[in-house]
Amino acid sequence: MESILIVDDDVNLCTVLSEELAEVGYETYFLTDGIEVLDYLRSHQVDLILLDLKMPVKDGYDVLTELIESHIDVRIIVLTAYADVQSAIDSAKLGASDFISKPYDFDELLITIRKVVQREV
Ligand SMILES: [Mg+2]
Repeated sequence: MESILIVDDDVNLCTVLSEELAEVGYETYFLTDGIEVLDYLRSHQVDLILLDLKMPVKDGYDVLTELIESHIDVRIIVLTAYADVQSAIDSAKLGASDFISKPYDFDELLITIRKVVQREV
């Protein structure tokens, strides 16, 4: 079973998305800020992170940078505000595999997740 870590300061989004992904067979966990991501990854196997860019304490860019600096290789899909193309470009430069606009369409999200998880590293 593939495991997905959701990182978003919107608790409601985390809860709903976590349940939706669990229903289609993913093991899910969520964090509501970037500060605990590195610690979590050190003790858990994660196949994919769904990462919000805008979070109050440690944002998505900080998390991406931290993962690069820590040489942690994990696939990441960034969650961006609708039509925020520049954020998507910036996060791709920091190693994100793909991005999803919020509010997300679950079917589209699932297609993107499957594409990214199956992609060879
Ligand atoms: Mg946010």
